[in-house]
Amino acid sequence: MPDQPPMNIFAPKLDHLETNKAAGSPSILLRQLPRPVERPFGGSALEPVFMLQRTIGNRATLRYLTQRLSDSPAATLGELSHVLERTGPLMHVPTLIYPGLLQRDDKAADAKKKEDPKVEAAKKKLKDKFGIKEFTQEEGVSWTESQLEKLTTAFSKMSPEEQKRLQGVTLHRTKQIAAPPDVKVPKGGKIVGEASSFDFMQFTAEGFAQSVVLHEAGHIIRASGLLEISKSKSFRDVEAAGKTIGRVIGPRAMIADMNAVENAGLTYLASTDDDRDANAQKLEDVLDSSLAFQAGPEILSASNAKVLLEAYDRLQKWVDAVKLLANAQARGINEFKALVKTNKLNRKGFRPFTDYVALNWPAKPGEFFAECYSTWRNNRAYMQAHAGTLFDWFEKGGHLEGVPPSKPQP
Ligand SMILES: [Zn+2]
Repeated sequence: MPDQPPMNIFAPKLDHLETNKAAGSPSILLRQLPRPVERPFGGSALEPVFMLQRTIGNRATLRYLTQRLSDSPAATLGELSHVLERTGPLMHVPTLIYPGLLQRDDKAADAKKKEDPKVEAAKKKLKDKFGIKEFTQEEGVSWTESQLEKLTTAFSKMSPEEQKRLQGVTLHRTKQIAAPPDVKVPKGGKIVGEASSFDFMQFTAEGFAQSVVLHEAGHIIRASGLLEISKSKSFRDVEAAGKTIGRVIGPRAMIADMNAVENAGLTYLASTDDDRDANAQKLEDVLDSSLAFQAGPEILSASNAKVLLEAYDRLQKWVDAVKLLANAQARGINEFKALVKTNKLNRKGFRPFTDYVALNWPAKPGEFFAECYSTWRNNRAYMQAHAGTLFDWFEKGGHLEGVPPSKPQP
């Protein structure tokens, strides 16, 4: 029924439309309208994302998505400025940063060393065994053989399924790591490791304790879960919905609203375990306010209305698909939070609930998750004895979107 406007959520407005038969076809309308943009929706972000997904693979796609969302708000607004009239600064910029464990003893940094063949060999081993992409360092520090061996030892405690998620990761040696503004650091503590996005980890000289390395690995495992989920039906739904979004054009003000929804949707997709709930709420809010166009003057033209209804119907479908995917992504952390609640694990005395974790709980559940993962991999007996159901959850792969991990290979 190509001539019929969609009949679902916009039914009340269609009643209004039925009294006005002047609607032109969308293609005619396209020519009548001023042309503020070639591709009002999707052209700026979605299509490149999915095209990249098809051509260069999921990890690169995620990198693209991450980079796009990490663009400065100014740059993003510049890119969209030709359609932005009544939309304010709309880009939430996700940090995608997981600050690392805190360590209280502040040993002197390793003495500067010229890289020797043993260091080279240790790096090569990490690349060969775990698919580490590269090693980088801040000026004035360098990797030592001992640090690299500690990484190898820690990564070897992970199951093959978990190790797969280390592939393509860059490891960086740095002097110090500043706490992101939304992270609380206990007095006397400092950040010695950090995982960013799904493929970057950095450590200071004090960051090579097994517990720290595995904590950061825990972040990487959760963040790269989207790669696994991207093989799922949910991901194909987003792709299919995204392909149809860009083909309808409406008045300029409406386009700004749609761009706001699109940005909120992409931000939601790029959520971490720590900001997913907040991003979901923002998407709901932006979607609600975009649907307020019913009351605007644009609807008075039936031809505009028809096009808008079609566009918003597609927008709604896209948002639904985004939610499906994000929900799949969120499942692991939601199960984790439920287990914490049921078993009252967020208490002093349970070792993974450190001062640092406590300070950032419940705002940053990813910190407690990473610490529990690290403890489970480092000290199974403790976890089994003190958090049996959480132990079982890890054992059956709850943290891997339900894929049971096989035993780590010695
Ligand atoms: Zn952390």
